[in-house]
Amino acid sequence: MILTVTMNPAIDTAYHLDHLAIDDVNRVAPRKTAGGKGLNVSRVLRQLGDDVLATGLSGGHMGAYMGELMDGDGIAHDFTPIAGETRVCISILHEGNQTELLESGPEVSADELAAFLDRFGELVVKVDCVTISGSLPKGVPADCYAGMVATASAAGVPVLLDTSGASLDAALAAEAKPTLVKPNLTEINDLLGTAFTPDDLPRLRETLAADARFAGIPWVVVSMGAAGSVAFHEGRAYRATSTPIEAVNATGSGDSTIAGFAHAVAAGMGAEDVLRYGNTCGKLNAMDPRTGHLVMEKWDEVFNDIQVVEL
Ligand code: ADP
Repeated sequence: MILTVTMNPAIDTAYHLDHLAIDDVNRVAPRKTAGGKGLNVSRVLRQLGDDVLATGLSGGHMGAYMGELMDGDGIAHDFTPIAGETRVCISILHEGNQTELLESGPEVSADELAAFLDRFGELVVKVDCVTISGSLPKGVPADCYAGMVATASAAGVPVLLDTSGASLDAALAAEAKPTLVKPNLTEINDLLGTAFTPDDLPRLRETLAADARFAGIPWVVVSMGAAGSVAFHEGRAYRATSTPIEAVNATGSGDSTIAGFAHAVAAGMGAEDVLRYGNTCGKLNAMDPRTGHLVMEKWDEVFNDIQVVEL
């Protein structure tokens, strides 16, 4: 069983339009999904055949509706109720553009957070792997994920952390280390104050090796979109690449990559297969118009095309 954490989930609502008429009426057919990065991870894990339990915070009518959507996707869930209303995020896909309207989400009280963290402590001991994805809602301190990593680590459960900004900073500064972090190139450059490109991997490697914040993290993976990814694991560096494709919709490719990693880590696979699973899932998501959904018919073709080399 893999536990996925989504602290600030959403009802993702997508509208597809041939043309967005500004200052006019647009008639639309919505597609609604239980959203937030951890729920994208959950859906992909279901496609991979894993048992998943989704957790986090949810509230109000939208929270109840999110539960129904997760039921519809076959995702078991155990969210802690909060008084605030779960947010709605709108994505308008028009003329090759993606215009997004993202609510910031509800404020979480100290009692609600404490109830969630208690429940997280109960759930974590029952699972093989934990994924923690996305940003924290208002009212939750930036070191929340660092504490959850410590809980998982004390229970001996691998924990994959996919976040950025202050919550990633806090997790990197903490004593208990996540099993895997997966910043994308923009996020790692923001963190390091650098401007590395996929052509600068030796310098990226040196910079990470000299940075004490990354010491003791078994897997540091930097994803680079169509350029694949680079992974630092047990003193070795690996580069994963594949035949380039024109992405249909790469939103959620990072979340799909985390699902692939979690699947492989929970199954005890070796380094090269962990990378093959992650990169296959990221690419198969980029080939599908839906977010957090793999084109499974192309699994063998894409999996066999991923090249993993040691640098
Ligand atoms: P994030 O969504 O976190 O920014 P990336 O955009 O780096 O993550 O994508 C994650 C992974 O998905 C990449 O490492 C790669 O394996 C795969 N991927 C994403 N976009 C493409 C693409 N256009 N072609 C091939 N693979 C892709």
